[in-house]
Amino acid sequence: KVSIDPADTFNEEYEIQEELGRGRFGVVYKVKHKKTGQSRAAKVIKCIKSTEKQGVRDEIDLMNSLRHPRLLQIAGAYERRRDIVMVLELISGGELFERVIAEDFALTELDCIFFMRQICEGLQYMHNNNILHLDLKPENILCVHKNSNYIKLIDFGLSRRFDPDKTTRVLFGTPEFIAPEVINYDPISYTSDMWSVGVVCYVLLTGLSPFMGDSDAETLANITNGDYDFDDDSFDDVTQNAKDFITALLVKKKEDRLTAAECIKHKWLNQKEDSTKKVVLSTDKLKKFILKRKWQKTGTAIRALGRIASLTSCTTPPSSPQPFHFQAATSPPPSPVPSASSPATLSPTY
Ligand code: ATP
Repeated sequence: KVSIDPADTFNEEYEIQEELGRGRFGVVYKVKHKKTGQSRAAKVIKCIKSTEKQGVRDEIDLMNSLRHPRLLQIAGAYERRRDIVMVLELISGGELFERVIAEDFALTELDCIFFMRQICEGLQYMHNNNILHLDLKPENILCVHKNSNYIKLIDFGLSRRFDPDKTTRVLFGTPEFIAPEVINYDPISYTSDMWSVGVVCYVLLTGLSPFMGDSDAETLANITNGDYDFDDDSFDDVTQNAKDFITALLVKKKEDRLTAAECIKHKWLNQKEDSTKKVVLSTDKLKKFILKRKWQKTGTAIRALGRIASLTSCTTPPSSPQPFHFQAATSPPPSPVPSASSPATLSPTY
């Protein structure tokens, strides 16, 4: 069990190497443990206020209870005056979606089955431990090593413990991947993660984002209307079993969606090699999808809104490059719309 070291010995113990990535909350570096020479990742999360620090402490506490090969493991933590450093196992293979679009990778449905199965295994473990991920998206699925088809789920910054006997509502997520009950500020459950699994699967197979609209407001409306189909030519090479799998996840009523355990038993995830088409799927659209998301990430601002109702009535310019990241607003009900630039609304959990 990792406990936070209040002494600032991080710089004495670790040598910082290159930057690995950046997110909403932190910068992640590759680091070397000076004593053992072991490579690890260090996520530096800026937090000054005590509430922000408590949020990171909660994330560390949560990660301590997540010990599973499909989930990123925490190795240490250091609390400093202005930030907290989380030392994590190094996942060196990069993002899954980046791997499958590489020149030397021929993506087949069989590969997709292998990836989706692992995602479901990771989530099943989390759900069995009464924890919701709540931020499943392509950027949070990494390959264990270069040239490895094993994946791990990362980023538990929005994850939380869940009591099925209590009502939990949240108001955050990334529009393309969030479940309708999040948008409607209705009670969430384990299957709120499973909606995101359905979206990720749809994108992985075709490069198309099922609910993507010209604006965030349109995307959200598409989600709440359950407005998606398999009509695009990209589905010509996709088996009926795969479509059935997605259909069983993109169900508006969360009680009717497959659980992670049910997914693992689903016929698509149990398809044997010989019965699955080995057709190489085109990744042209997936390449465009990734480019677009990268562009969005480097966009100028992360805009936060406190109430989704306002979103559906306010129109984001169609060409808006920034992804929306809704922020946490568990009970009590959402407060009036804060200023989009208000930093307080940017960090719900920290
Ligand atoms: P987000 O904005 O998605 O919530 P965040 O601030 O919570 O991001 P992470 O998603 O944890 O940060 O990390 C940002 C990026 O750093 C990831 O997308 C990934 O590319 C890289 N990264 C994170 N953890 C690791 C790790 N353990 N090993 C290698 N790379 C990592």
